[in-house]
Amino acid sequence: MSIFRKNIERMTAYVPGEQPGADEKVIKLNTNENPYPPSPKALAALREFDGEALRLYPDPMARRFCQAAAKVLDVPAEWILPGNGSDDLIMMISRAALGSGRKVVYPTPTFEFYRTEAEIDGARIVEIPFGEDYALPLDAIAEANGAVTFLANPNSPTGTYAPNEQLDELAGRLDGLLVIDEAYADFAANNALELIARHDNVIVLRTLSKGYSLAGLRLGFGIAQPVVLDGLVKTKAIYNVDALACAVGTAAMEDQAHKNANADKIKASRTSLTSELESLGYHVWPSQANFILARPPAGDAKRVSQSLKTDGILVRYFKGPQLADKLRITIGTQEQNDALLASLRELN
Ligand SMILES: *Cc1c(COP(=O)(O)O)cnc(C)c1O
Repeated sequence: MSIFRKNIERMTAYVPGEQPGADEKVIKLNTNENPYPPSPKALAALREFDGEALRLYPDPMARRFCQAAAKVLDVPAEWILPGNGSDDLIMMISRAALGSGRKVVYPTPTFEFYRTEAEIDGARIVEIPFGEDYALPLDAIAEANGAVTFLANPNSPTGTYAPNEQLDELAGRLDGLLVIDEAYADFAANNALELIARHDNVIVLRTLSKGYSLAGLRLGFGIAQPVVLDGLVKTKAIYNVDALACAVGTAAMEDQAHKNANADKIKASRTSLTSELESLGYHVWPSQANFILARPPAGDAKRVSQSLKTDGILVRYFKGPQLADKLRITIGTQEQNDALLASLRELN
């Protein structure tokens, strides 16, 4: 007899991007971290954190953080559910709404963790390929009508996004929950927050990992009407957001100016890196995120990623059918992007 359920035996584990040790000198453009430091106010909150507070359990609902986020987003604090990264929200959603053959739907290629969670919970998985240049297959997704539909918007690893009119229509046509994963909203021209008041079957996910330069802190949140959050909270780990994350994350959330200034730098670099890569013969898809998807002139993405690695530069290569000839490159600092371009010129 196996210790594990059949779906656990059958599935393969999620493979995170490579995280080299802190002492390894690499240019890390493979996991969409922010190349700029977190808010000085967040770092001050970290230094000033009262260690004695760690003796007590944290607020299970991280209310201080939720109130700060509510103020920034202009929604009621009761519409916010905090998580240990937005991965935690994805787990809560899967546990609450999927399992025993219930249907999960998402367009591919996308964040592979949706599949991981669906497999753990034994959901029926319906993957629908994006259209030409990663256009949203709206009708096919609506017709599949999942108990849960995941949509990373902007999408990873493509960087492309669907406009709100399409999301609005989709939410109206679905009976189940539409999860709009906005991990990259801080770098996008628009976001779907306005849909939440109109649709009681929509949840928007946000994270402090990308825009706020706090991937190591583990803090994310969902925004939805209470009718959705009341179900999800039942599947939440009791103290999923620790006291330190709550304190540091609150200070980061309150410093929108710092986050926006870094996002502006990244967006400017995204434009220049895109045109530099195009001048080297790369095809680059228009990105609304802090990374770009690029196809090398010869389509030999795997070889290019390996050569970059020997130069100490990590980018992300995915084997998938729609991705094998492309690289996902996180936007770095100007110096990092220049080093990348210098390496690629040598290769060309
Ligand atoms: C990075 C990412 C996440 C995970 O964010 P965490 O808050 O660090 O767990 C979720 N969704 C997508 C699409 C991402 O790229």
